Amino acid sequence: MLISATRVANSLTPISDLLIRNATLVATVDNQRSEIAGGWVSITDGLISGVGKSGSEPVATRVIDATDCLVTPGLINTHHHMYQNLTRAFPPMTNAALFGWLKTLYPLWSTLNEESAHVSTWVGLAELALSGCTTSTDHLYVHPAGAGDLLTASITAAQDIGVRFHPTRGSMSLSEKDGGLPPDNVVQDHDVILAESKRMVELHHDRAFGAMVRVALAPCSPFSVTKKLMIESAELAETLDVRLHTHFAENSEDDDFSIATFGCRPTQYLEEVGWLSSRTWVAHCVMPHHDEIHTLGAAGIGAAHCPSSNLILSSGISPVVALRKAGVHVGLGVDGSSSADSASLWLEARQAMLLAKLKDGADAGTARMALEIATRGGAGCLGRVGEIGEISVGAVGDIAVWSLTGPAFAGAIADPIEAWLRCGPVSAKHTIVHGRSIVENGQLVSNKVDEMLRTHRVLAQRMQAHYVA
Ligand SMILES: [Zn+2]
Repeated sequence: MLISATRVANSLTPISDLLIRNATLVATVDNQRSEIAGGWVSITDGLISGVGKSGSEPVATRVIDATDCLVTPGLINTHHHMYQNLTRAFPPMTNAALFGWLKTLYPLWSTLNEESAHVSTWVGLAELALSGCTTSTDHLYVHPAGAGDLLTASITAAQDIGVRFHPTRGSMSLSEKDGGLPPDNVVQDHDVILAESKRMVELHHDRAFGAMVRVALAPCSPFSVTKKLMIESAELAETLDVRLHTHFAENSEDDDFSIATFGCRPTQYLEEVGWLSSRTWVAHCVMPHHDEIHTLGAAGIGAAHCPSSNLILSSGISPVVALRKAGVHVGLGVDGSSSADSASLWLEARQAMLLAKLKDGADAGTARMALEIATRGGAGCLGRVGEIGEISVGAVGDIAVWSLTGPAFAGAIADPIEAWLRCGPVSAKHTIVHGRSIVENGQLVSNKVDEMLRTHRVLAQRMQAHYVA
């Protein structure tokens, strides 16, 4: 057993709540990108209280021995649609591109309710936690009439499992009859969307340092909401001082829609609707032209890179290296669980590394770059640099511990960070959020896992039964 209680009865000695020690390497991803061989990290009252080299460890109530492990900041998921795990790997849609894929699945998703929102979010966050994720966003943009309060249902799931959560109040207001993509029964009235967005922020948004829940506003995409809603959502976000999120320049269909409907490139559209600001982070950002990349960087925008989704839907390869160079905060996203069906942030980090190599050369995509995107970059997207996504004193105690042992790592002894993404593992050994373990020795700590998976199966069957060929 690696975890033990070692409280020392000396009132003069500072006692931290948790000490993670003997790491092969602590990759802090702090301002100096410090890497500490044989390092340790301590956490007190949910925040990192110390980081150091072997021999200077503080006394702690609880100790995790990280021998043969890489210790990193907890990974940050900046784009997801958790409810979509109810239609994962759904055969009628497994070979479709974005627009056809969406049009077939909208009717199934229109049956979403509070129970299915809660359970799918719980399961989605459980899956993410196993891949070292400690903070996740969720873009919940389907709010069918009479479905209830789906956002609150998803937030209670995050609170139960203990993942730091950035739900976004998504919306769709442009249905097929008005030239949009979704059917009438999944879009909402403009005023209802804005009123509900405001209510959700007032109810759940926590502005305190170390907050576990923060809400953002997230009209779904240019092809599913009106221009007026984009403009007024940006104004409301400014008034409420919350962040903005949407899909952006995802593939050539998306690009074509922008030019045909708005008569401009997607970046110009963002500017027209008041979204070209550091308050915004967008999902995908696959198609920007050279000049658009510089405009986005100058605005200090964030971009959620979703490599697996972009590959599965054949959308393209996001110019991540150029975006980062231009000043864009590039984070990592697993995207919805029925486009990139697996929701592993480790896997996405590896994909990000491989795609950057393919696009920009073997030396462009390193494991360190991918780790940075998965941690600090995500913090930039969510407006929380210095607070999450790094191991430094005062930042939140969100940590992932990765075992570097077993056949997959044999011989990989020279560089623990490159080994982490090149050789494995897919799963975290320990995932710690605000100083609390939610994954221990590769297993979820919660005792509800089996019950939730059973319920999820029933709900998935019920939803998929609505498919009409
Ligand atoms: Zn998405």
